[in-house]
Amino acid sequence: MRKIVVALVIALCALATPHAQAPAAQARVTGTITLALDARETPRKLLHARETLTVTPGALTLVYPKWLPGEHAPDGAIDDLVGLKFSAGGKTIAWRRDPVDLFAFHIDVPQGADTLEVTLDFLSAIGAGGFSSASSETAHLGIYSWNQVLLYPQGARTDDVMFSASIELPGNWKYATALPIRIVGGIVAGVKPGDASPPRQLSASVQFAPVSLTTLVDSPVIAGEYLRVVPLDNTSSRPVEADLVGDTASAIDIPADLTQKWKRLVQETDAMFGARHYNNYHFLLTLSDRVAHFGLEHHQSNDSRVPQNSLSQQNSIGVVAHEYVHSWNGKYRRPAGLATPDFQQPMVGDLLWVYEGLTQYLGYLLAERSGIWSESYYKERLAQIAAFLDTEPGREWRPLADTTTAAQLLYFAPGQWTSYRRGTDFYDEGWLIWLDADTQIRQLTNGQKSMEDFTHLFHGGESSAPMLKPYAFEDVVAALNQVAPHDWKGFLTARIYQVAPRAPLDGITKGGWRLVYTDAKNEYVKTTDADRVEAGYSIGLRVRARDGVVNDVNLNSPAGKAGIGPGMQILAVNGLRFSAEVLRNAIKDSKTASGPLTIEFQNDDLVKTVSLDYHGGTREPHLERDSTKVDVLAQILAPRAK
Ligand SMILES: [Zn+2]
Repeated sequence: MRKIVVALVIALCALATPHAQAPAAQARVTGTITLALDARETPRKLLHARETLTVTPGALTLVYPKWLPGEHAPDGAIDDLVGLKFSAGGKTIAWRRDPVDLFAFHIDVPQGADTLEVTLDFLSAIGAGGFSSASSETAHLGIYSWNQVLLYPQGARTDDVMFSASIELPGNWKYATALPIRIVGGIVAGVKPGDASPPRQLSASVQFAPVSLTTLVDSPVIAGEYLRVVPLDNTSSRPVEADLVGDTASAIDIPADLTQKWKRLVQETDAMFGARHYNNYHFLLTLSDRVAHFGLEHHQSNDSRVPQNSLSQQNSIGVVAHEYVHSWNGKYRRPAGLATPDFQQPMVGDLLWVYEGLTQYLGYLLAERSGIWSESYYKERLAQIAAFLDTEPGREWRPLADTTTAAQLLYFAPGQWTSYRRGTDFYDEGWLIWLDADTQIRQLTNGQKSMEDFTHLFHGGESSAPMLKPYAFEDVVAALNQVAPHDWKGFLTARIYQVAPRAPLDGITKGGWRLVYTDAKNEYVKTTDADRVEAGYSIGLRVRARDGVVNDVNLNSPAGKAGIGPGMQILAVNGLRFSAEVLRNAIKDSKTASGPLTIEFQNDDLVKTVSLDYHGGTREPHLERDSTKVDVLAQILAPRAK
């Protein structure tokens, strides 16, 4: 709370200074900014935008959004901004980029001008990239993030700047978004806010209602040739729908059983929080093998992107449960350090173990309770992340808290040496810690209370339109204490802020289960077999399946001690030319083999063979029931909704 107050004061001063001290030299931007996005060239990954601002003459600095909410990083795609031109009264205005802040552009609005035109183009990435700046457009569909196609006045609070946006789409494309459509003369031109299933215009321009810049950037648009609207809750005054867009008609052909599970997800989430903090909610789901795959939360929607066949292989749909939880945990309640007044101020991510970690715990719980994930898949996934974190050498030097503070680096770090570097572990370790907290609450209250008492207290209350209530570490501790008095500060400090060589597995054991390794296939690991050999818990390697290139090595493992490192390529195992199966079989057979397991590998231009004295066979993680304890995990996984 304190952090945000200080930040707001600074922003207000920045706004006030030009008016008060240098009225003649500083331009002012007044009224609503008009933004017209021409997306008709989406199939060749080129977007055109025109912005019109009401201005007074003088010096003006406009900025491009840098720190993107939900991405927790300064990864605004500034290098894809091209074709930038400014003009007033038909005359071009020269611009210059700030030499220190590369996201800022300085111009002088000439005397007599009252309107400033800004035109810019955006080059949509074709290959890999980070989150929303990664591949977002195909020949059949587009995902439009407004922050990519606009500039706004430097120093202005994004809550205070109003935008009136429109979009023009390729002919016959349909669209979906949480943005309300403009109402003309009392007649609904498209849809009124709150409608769950609006009539989608099939072409031409769609004019949206004026909203703040905060809301605009929080409300992406998906559009495409193949778009399907699936109502999930039409009966509430705060309706919910899923909008599916895909590269083919069959990609969005949702099976009836998945629709039912998705409806249950909405009901289970209601049971978890007891209130909704949105006017309407849109699950914007893109099914394509040509766009980047991730989920990005917004207050009234989420932009989730999954492989094209995901409606038939539903485990990857679990991401929508995570993103939906963010409407409460991340948007309604947000760490003060992430609740910045504009998109240029640095974010402080030290509470991402709540923002992302609790979302990971609650989201996957809801995926299981609604049936999108099976109970066995949930347990196998939990076993896998527990094993990964428990054997990670990086935890010997880096506390979990540092992965939150350094999140803006770790999101974009390469996969090599992940186990030693540590990645964005606050997601999965958050899952373990909040399971630990949930089982702790149940233990303290003899099963009378649970994490749902915390979520009702912290995230529930009265249903409302979107609003933001920032919090600090002390607020989380206080809410936990209100649910079940305990040394929660000590509990969280030990698990998050101190170096802990072992992962927090107490939630699993208090849940009546234990982490074990057997030669049986882990159900989650199996889904990754085509891409890699997961030998992290046996010889200590994670290897690319198609060519034997080592992606990660556990320093404390037999392979790590033998000197194998990331980037080296395995050529042969026990004298047989490498294939994923050859490596898997050699590990499996090590149990009965009399000699060591030999690996021949290439390191740059050197070829070398090492021998691993390993006889443990295949080791994959699973949860095993501890029959001496109550099965608390079963109670946690049981559906709640009536
Ligand atoms: Zn998230």
